[in-house]
Amino acid sequence: MLIFGLRTVVRQLGVVTLICRNCGNTAAQVLSRRVTKFSLFFVPLFPVRTKYGMQCTFCAASYTISKDEATRLAVH
Ligand SMILES: [Zn+2]
Repeated sequence: MLIFGLRTVVRQLGVVTLICRNCGNTAAQVLSRRVTKFSLFFVPLFPVRTKYGMQCTFCAASYTISKDEATRLAVH
């Protein structure tokens, strides 16, 4: 029997203070990376897709950002 599936791992990259795109307030934004991996017999083999996101701690809105943007923000 073959057991396979997808697993998504969310990792926080850091917190940056920015003007929120949703509420317009300057607030802490939590930067995170979601990696979806293909796994076989519960062993993650290779990443299928990687997405970056940001969540505002003021209004709790979350949105997807590009990899370039995430990399740029994570450097600070
Ligand atoms: Zn906000």
